[in-house]
Amino acid sequence: MFIDSHAHLFYPDFKDDLDEVIRRASDAGVKFFVVPGTNVETSKQAIALSERYEAVYACVGIHPLDMAEADDGALREIEKLSEHKKVVAIGEIGLDYYYDTTPKDKQQRMFRSQIEIAIRRNLPIVVHTRDSMDDAVSTVEEMIQRNEYWRSQQATSNSRFLAPKGVFHCFSGDALTARRLFMLGFLVSYPGIVTFKNSPAVETLKTIGYDHIMLETDSPYLTPAPHRGKRNEPMYIPEIGKKIAEVCKATDKDVARTTTYNAKRLFNIGSLGDPVFTYSLGRSLYINLTIRCDADCIFCDRKGEAVVKGHNLKITREPTVREVIEEIKDPKAYDEIVFCGYGEPTIRFDAVKEIGAWVKANGGKVRLNTDGHGSLINKRNIAPELRNVVDTVSISLNSVDPRQYGELMRINGEKNHAAMVEFAGEAKKYVSEVVMSVVGMDDVDIEKAKRYVEDVLGVKYRVRPYF
Ligand code: SF4
Ligand SMILES: [Zn+2]
Repeated sequence: MFIDSHAHLFYPDFKDDLDEVIRRASDAGVKFFVVPGTNVETSKQAIALSERYEAVYACVGIHPLDMAEADDGALREIEKLSEHKKVVAIGEIGLDYYYDTTPKDKQQRMFRSQIEIAIRRNLPIVVHTRDSMDDAVSTVEEMIQRNEYWRSQQATSNSRFLAPKGVFHCFSGDALTARRLFMLGFLVSYPGIVTFKNSPAVETLKTIGYDHIMLETDSPYLTPAPHRGKRNEPMYIPEIGKKIAEVCKATDKDVARTTTYNAKRLFNIGSLGDPVFTYSLGRSLYINLTIRCDADCIFCDRKGEAVVKGHNLKITREPTVREVIEEIKDPKAYDEIVFCGYGEPTIRFDAVKEIGAWVKANGGKVRLNTDGHGSLINKRNIAPELRNVVDTVSISLNSVDPRQYGELMRINGEKNHAAMVEFAGEAKKYVSEVVMSVVGMDDVDIEKAKRYVEDVLGVKYRVRPYF
């Protein structure tokens, strides 16, 4: 299932066949449509469409290219319209320095005023930029500083997936700008431009992945290849998703689920899905054995929403061995069965052993993703018990410096770092592969970590990007 997070379905281009357009999209799996207004008039039209079609939701706002005529009265009308029950955001708003239709200072004033409306109404914003990325990002940054509610969400959230404040649609920025936005609690969305030849968006996507993105068509504009020249319409969303999956080396399903989840959550549309005991990503099946952990990493979303690529991992009880085995069914159907999730699997080491042994006996491959504290947790050297249970052990190294390790994981750095290193050395004796990974954060020395892992510990090394 997909959501078109940005389609101007009120344009005259659609006046004759909108029923057909919506039906075609729905047949292609696109189930919801978010229609942003561009001024008072089209905001009303977007609302009218949301009343006519259950699957349509509206955004109301004054687009930078429509700001020349707009005054405070128009802003008051937008705020009034935003009370409609199918209005899910203020948008599209923003800054456009490409077309010189409205002086910059007026654009900035109206952008800020509309952000204030969104904050008052507790709605996200849909941001348009053109040649104005830096100013637009600085403006939202400044508004976060100025607004207590937005600021409090920054400060108190345990999550790298902050309560989303909005989206930069048709995103044209680079990876660093994207990351700045993610840290502020914004998403970015991509239309058909990702299918164009030499699109810079492709390079950005390779770095940022698809965790924080949404799909959009921006219909009737920006028709994806190979349909360029024709009117754009929401039924092309799966093709955009397919291209993004190809760029990010992911499956179409993973991109569809993740981007749909992001849109549902941002716009508060539909239900977000029940927690799961097992979940598939790529060609592997992951086991969510527990949400308990002996650490409390600063970058971990365990105590936040605990969602991974659209899968809700926030279980309220732990699965039994039987339940997990029943869900796996056929281990050979997957590349790997992975103990993972937002928790430390070795806290349930008996279950790991039982399930792992069953998977291997039935022709599957097993990976254990762990913080490496299993021997500390179980008060014995557990490595020998991994024989015939696990093929690969992936340990989060996080940092080679015990002090930094302790700070990142909010645990006793000295003791746990030593235990983790010892476990890596022991595990090497009993499983075919040991990998150690670090999250590439600004102040982690990933080169030093690489030398340490490969030369000192003699195991494989992997950097996980912090996006
Ligand atoms: S060790 Fe893993 S599950 Fe535990 S807090 Fe850290 S990142 Fe989260
Ligand atoms: Zn638009």
